[in-house]
This record gives sequence, structure tokens and C-alpha cells, in this order.
Amino acid sequence: MSDPTIRDRILRAVDARFDAQLAFTQEVVRHPSLRTQEGSAQDLLHRAMEQRGLQMDRWQLDPGALAAHPGAGIIDVDYGDVDNVVGTYEPTVEAGRSLILNGHIDVVPTGPEGAWSASPWDARIDGDWLYGRGSGDMKAGLVANLFAFDALFDAGLEPTARIHIQSVVEEECTGNGSLSALQRGYTADAVLIPEPEEDMLVRANVGVIWFRVRVDGAPTHPREMHAGFNAIDAAHSVIGRLRELEEAWNAERGQHRYFEDLDHPINLNLGIVAGGDWASSVPAWCEMDLRIALYPGVTAEDAWEQIEAHLASVTTDEAGNPIRATATRNGFFAQGYVLEEGSDAEAALRASHREVFGSELETFTTPGYLDGRVFTQYGGIPSLVYGPISEAIHGYDERVSIESVRRITKSIALFIADWCGVQESSRS
Ligand code: ZN
Repeated sequence: MSDPTIRDRILRAVDARFDAQLAFTQEVVRHPSLRTQEGSAQDLLHRAMEQRGLQMDRWQLDPGALAAHPGAGIIDVDYGDVDNVVGTYEPTVEAGRSLILNGHIDVVPTGPEGAWSASPWDARIDGDWLYGRGSGDMKAGLVANLFAFDALFDAGLEPTARIHIQSVVEEECTGNGSLSALQRGYTADAVLIPEPEEDMLVRANVGVIWFRVRVDGAPTHPREMHAGFNAIDAAHSVIGRLRELEEAWNAERGQHRYFEDLDHPINLNLGIVAGGDWASSVPAWCEMDLRIALYPGVTAEDAWEQIEAHLASVTTDEAGNPIRATATRNGFFAQGYVLEEGSDAEAALRASHREVFGSELETFTTPGYLDGRVFTQYGGIPSLVYGPISEAIHGYDERVSIESVRRITKSIALFIADWCGVQESSRS
């Protein structure tokens, strides 16, 4: 920010409203916005954006339109109650560069709630930590977008470019929320996504494929167990073989820019297992839900072909019994992406970060999925994924650092001012 007085006004405005920001973050965390249950949390975001005078848009995701897109994930839930919310700010004078402030409202399941120190939905604060499922991933960031935007007006300024504040669904399973927003026509000169990234900027990240492997067995009474074929035992063999593919992909990391120094960027996660019907019947079936990563530059189609070919090569178990394993996609079908160095958007964020943190913005490679790929790959929009310090996302006692959220909010506010431009407000 070239004008230090404007900078100071914005930073003070973030501080002045920070208690309200924290309280609103807690309120959002108290809505258990698990997949297909995002409605009440989206109501809250819709109301908050409407109160700020934004032009509101809320729509249900369209499975038909999504299915036609190559980057969409397979949908195996009902989208009847699954909505995106976007609030748009139109400037009185259009001078700067437009911006999408994106965040996802959906959260992953809690696991056994008794293993948490307190309810995952009580949004407890203890010292510098705000606890709760979704606190870090990524309700703190979603709300930071809104309050960073507020800070400009509180400082007596108004942005001079179009801004879309997006609260999207489906980030944790398909990426279809952000994809639907892109299909609806939302575009801008840059997008910022405050995922919990430890006060750093994501340089590169993996793509992800979700798939289900079904192994069929031959049920019998256990008294003649060897006449049957145990699908659950066979599933172990199948997983062992898929681990070979995982290791082969990890062994290639030296050929993938920004992944050379990671120990194990490609992780195959066996997330859900189901099989059999009865303890005294040799199981007739086993189904496993899996998640695997792929490098940027590898298409999801290519990765999927390799997975299918590898599974086809699994024809027998260790004892030589024939195995029949079939794979079907059931979620993410997403490529990774790289934020190319030298963009104007990154330069602006670097300057804002320096103002707030007093140090250079660090970049890193993350072996997890991010919606940034939607905007970068299909919209040609540079995606800045940059957000607060968190611990235990997707685990027990998920939490986000409150002071980190404050700093990130300040940095986002300065970034908006720089990227979109500001003028003295005509409202005051
Ligand atoms: Zn997230």
C-alpha cells in the first residue's frame, strides 16, 4: 500500500471489528454444515452478505450441467438442498481489477464425537485457539473474506472494482461448488481462497480422485470355508497391489516441478470399508472407498486409466485364487495445479503480507486438494490460496489460531485495497 495513512486506517478497522468477526465465526462453526446439510449455514452467510448491501445470488447445484464438465466430480448424493451463495459488490466507479473471494462452507464428518475434548459444534475458545469442526477448514477464512471487505468501508473507503464473495459447497468431496460458480458465469482478474495454509501461499498442489473398489467373493458356511472365497481377505490383496501403484507414483516425484523435495506427496487413503453380512458366512462382497492424489500436469483421465489398468492386473490373491475387483469413480475427478510465479496478483499479496507480518511471504507445495484448480484450470484466473494457522483439520479438536486469523484478515483487506483500488467513500 503506497499510502501509509490509508493502510493504517484499514488495519485499525480490522482490529475494531475483530471481536464481531470472531463471534460471527463461532456462529458459523455452530452450524454443522456436513455434506448436503449446508442449508442453515448458507442462510447465515446469505443474511450477512445481504446486510452489507451486496447483490445476492443463491442457486441449487445442477447435476446435469455439472456432469457435462470434465472437471466435475461424480455425484452420489441428492443436491435438492445443496446451494451456493454469492454476494456481489458493484463499484460506483470501475477503475481497478476485479476479485473473487472464495471459501467453502462444507465440513468433513467429526468421527466419534466422544473423542473430542468438547462438542465439535460448540465453537469453544481457549487461549489463542478457536475449536470446532470446520473452524480452520475453513470457516475462519470464509468469514475473514467478509470482514476484510468490511474493513475498507469502516475505514471510509470503497473498492473501485467488482468483488464477488462466494460461499461454496462440495469442496471436500467433488469441487462441484466452485465449478458450479464458474459455470454460472462468475469470473474475475484474481481469486483468493483463505484455506488454512499456515500463513503461507500455496505454490502447487495435487489433484485428487475418489473411487470405490468392489471385490466379489463366494459365500459359504465356514465349516467348508475353503470351498468359498472370502471377499474381505481378497480386498487386502487388492489394497496391497494398489499400494504398489502409489509407490510407483511417489518414485516419480523428482520429475514433477515443486514436488521434488516432498517425501511422499502421493497418498492413497483407504477411507471407508464395508463388506459381508454375517460373522458365520464367508463374505460375498467387500467395498472400499479410496482417495488418491495425482501431480499437476497429469490429467485425471490419465491417472484413472493407470488405476484401472493396475486393478485389471490384479487377477489372483497370494494363494492363486482368482480375484474379481471392479473400480468406479464416486467423487473428486480433479487435476492439480501450479500457481505460476510472477503474477501481478501474487506480487500484490506479497506486498500486503509484508505490511502485516513484517516478513516475506513463503510459498509451499501441499499434497491436498484445493478448489483453486477450478479457477486456474478452467477460468484462467490466478488463484491465491493463503490462510491462517490451524491444527488437526479433519481430526479431533480441529482448531484455528485467532491471532493468525486477525493477521490474515488484515493482509486480505490490504490486498483487496491494492488489487481493486479504493477511493474515499461517497457514503460517509
Ligand atoms: Zn478446506
